Amino acid sequence: EQQMGREMTERSAGTEGDAQPIALRNVSWRRLSGYLRGYERQMAIAIVGLLLSSAIGLTFPLIIGEAVGQVLAARDYDLLNRFALLLFGLFIVQAIGDALNTYYIGVVGERIIYTLRTSLFARITSLGLDFFGKRRTGELISRLTGDVTLIRELLTTNITQLIGGLITLIGSVVVVFALNPQLTLFLLLLIPVIMGIAIVIGGALERQSTRVQDAVAAATVVAEEGISGIRVVQSFTREAYETQRYATSADVAARAAIRVMLLRAAFSGLMVFLGFGAISAIVWFAGRQVIAGEMTITLLTSFLIYGVSIAFGIAQLARLYSEARAALGAVRRVFELLDSVPVVQDAAAAAPLPPVVGRVTLNAAAFAYDAEQTVIHGMTIEIAPGEMLALVGPSGAGKSTIFNLIPRFYDVTGGSVQIDGHDVRSVTLASLRAQIGLVPQETLLFGGSVRDNIRYGRLEASDAEVADAARAANAHDFVMELPQGYDTIVGERGTRLSGGQRQRVAIARAILKDPRILLLDEATSALDTASERLVQTALERLMRGRTTIVIAHRLSTVVAADRIAVLDRGRIVELGTHHELLAQGGTYARLYALQFRDGADELTTQAQVAQPQQR
Ligand code: ATP
Repeated sequence: EQQMGREMTERSAGTEGDAQPIALRNVSWRRLSGYLRGYERQMAIAIVGLLLSSAIGLTFPLIIGEAVGQVLAARDYDLLNRFALLLFGLFIVQAIGDALNTYYIGVVGERIIYTLRTSLFARITSLGLDFFGKRRTGELISRLTGDVTLIRELLTTNITQLIGGLITLIGSVVVVFALNPQLTLFLLLLIPVIMGIAIVIGGALERQSTRVQDAVAAATVVAEEGISGIRVVQSFTREAYETQRYATSADVAARAAIRVMLLRAAFSGLMVFLGFGAISAIVWFAGRQVIAGEMTITLLTSFLIYGVSIAFGIAQLARLYSEARAALGAVRRVFELLDSVPVVQDAAAAAPLPPVVGRVTLNAAAFAYDAEQTVIHGMTIEIAPGEMLALVGPSGAGKSTIFNLIPRFYDVTGGSVQIDGHDVRSVTLASLRAQIGLVPQETLLFGGSVRDNIRYGRLEASDAEVADAARAANAHDFVMELPQGYDTIVGERGTRLSGGQRQRVAIARAILKDPRILLLDEATSALDTASERLVQTALERLMRGRTTIVIAHRLSTVVAADRIAVLDRGRIVELGTHHELLAQGGTYARLYALQFRDGADELTTQAQVAQPQQR
């Protein structure tokens, strides 16, 4: 938790440092406005709507001025009626303009959010495991939800308000200038003062609102961890602890947001003060002219109202500026994420990997997750097509890392990994991964039907093929017993499958994919004998005829393997069959005594089942 707090302060300190003066320059407005492309028509309607309603707002003072000066003075009921009708008509138009503006701004806004979210999601899913090692799910979700909303505001509401505000302001200035140039110049003196305030407060707002977004992201991280880890949380009865942890980070976010509110309040207070100050000044300035007989009361009335328009128009522009500054942090972070490039990607000259027979070669392969610690030291081994190689070794020996290197979740830092003699870095990722099946320890079921989950292995597979794969994976029978058979919804909101059933769904998925090379991370959790047998025979069917590398946790697996590679601290220390290695009396023999011995009694029966099917 402390660590996270520190990360957070470091992160916001980092943004703070480079945020201020270069902020507006280092965000490409052209790129930003590119998100409006294709919505010119809707934006135009929204702006016209806004203009209509603000133009009516603009002429309103003139009309009221006239009314006060003439209609009432003439004591003409008929004129007053017509005048009231005119106002009524104008307000209908204004209402329509306002509605059009609200609706079309909303439409464009939602589209922009959609585009940003989908392109962000596509980018995130394209990034490598190294990226996900550094970023937390909650933080990414917060980018997808919170930050994009700020950008939407910037591109829609703020832009139209800016255009509408500018037009109103310019219009008012022109009218007032025509009426009384002196007074206009006097009003324009406000601009530098207001802009000065906007720049100072806008900068502070930008920094502070970046802090809010960071704090919200950090709180989302805590929430996401607590929710997805709910079983652990509850089993340790750490609900109160997690709630406290969340409360702490939500409190940071709330405090930061309150500071933003303080800035906004100070800003709007100052603007209101300046606006009304300006109006008082007009009253004083023009009042003197009226007393001197140089100005009529009608004119003074109009003036006052235009004065309000101008003063608040300037204040509105200042507010828009400060809000744009506040959104910049979000823009920068979203763009940064969109610009992240996967470390592992297709080489420029990458060719598709032709269908392989499945010879997997590690050629002095070396790997380090980070510069300080080499995890795989120049490992050389050739796995023949159709061979089954079991990887065993103590925790942290590098077994999972080897699994990461073959489908290129990470690239070797030395030597090479080859498949049928092709360096995996020289072929396209898609063609490489299409020929490798990965069966992880823990099967993730996606929200959807059992059929969808099996079909994840090959999206175009027919229902019959799905059922065949399920049969081969010993899954068909239990699926048929589910309430809706293959249509039963599983995953987070659906029917819960048992551990053994999930494993068989994963196996069916892999059978459907039908890869030449299989990476199998054997589940560690023991199943009951009947269920174990079903999984075991399903696995045997899956492995048959494929090059299989298995991280073995079961005695039956190591005994069935063609060869066993014993890993220790990133090196292959022993290589051979179960009997050869036992006879050597080395690491494997010790490991066997410790890890596998317990299953030995069971093995005698299982081995009899497994042996005849060995290749
Ligand atoms: P286990 O049997 O416990 O799963 P393993 O043999 O699969 O262990 P690996 O997961 O390959 O071991 O880990 C090998 C070494 O690499 C360990 O020292 C581990 O700390 C380190 N390591 C693993 N993943 C990462 C990562 N994403 N970033 C940095 N270091 C890592």
